[in-house]
Amino acid sequence: MSCYADVLVLRHPTPGAVESASRHCRKPVINAGDGVGEHPTQALLDVFTIREELGTVNGMTITMVGDLKHGRTVHSLAKLLTQYRITLRYVAPKNLHMPPEICSYVASKGIKQEEFESLEEALPDTDVLYMTRIQKERFSSEEEYRASFGQYILTPHIMTGAKNKMVVMHPLPRVNEISAEVDSDPRRAAYFRQAENGMYIRMALLATVLGR
Ligand code: ASP
Repeated sequence: MSCYADVLVLRHPTPGAVESASRHCRKPVINAGDGVGEHPTQALLDVFTIREELGTVNGMTITMVGDLKHGRTVHSLAKLLTQYRITLRYVAPKNLHMPPEICSYVASKGIKQEEFESLEEALPDTDVLYMTRIQKERFSSEEEYRASFGQYILTPHIMTGAKNKMVVMHPLPRVNEISAEVDSDPRRAAYFRQAENGMYIRMALLATVLGR
């Protein structure tokens, strides 16, 4: 395919597959998500969104909620955020915790990590609430998926415990982890602006890679 294009943007189900492809390809290769591995362009747009919405990333408490084990967006974002002075909080169902290798990487950069069992407990000091869906396609049975599904659902009532100046983000698609009523929270519901930022960030990345 690289003979016919200037850049390859590759999404693949196997972690590490895009990196291997890039070693054999004469053209730039961009990782558009490699299974449960990483999603680096999402991390770029996420950090861009935090800066746009809150003015800075430094000093922020960022709470990641949901399927932290299989969610590639949170893996890449946690790593990228180690470039800043931040605190990371994790709220995940049993057995869906952030992988130990990501936690050790984050710890090696001197970043504080805290685990919480409930959203309500983690929320009051949170500046960025990063919601994610349970990654259904990563479970071997419907039953296993159901056991973890629906534990953390953000509602307007729960949002009353959040700061006035904070943002709710989500890499989309949403299943039911943010109730649709939260969409009309005018300043704090940032996920659709975040999705739009994805287009600009990827345009900028393509321009950079192509030397424009
Ligand atoms: N869209 C994101 C991804 O490709 C998040 C998700 O699918 O839940 O990983």
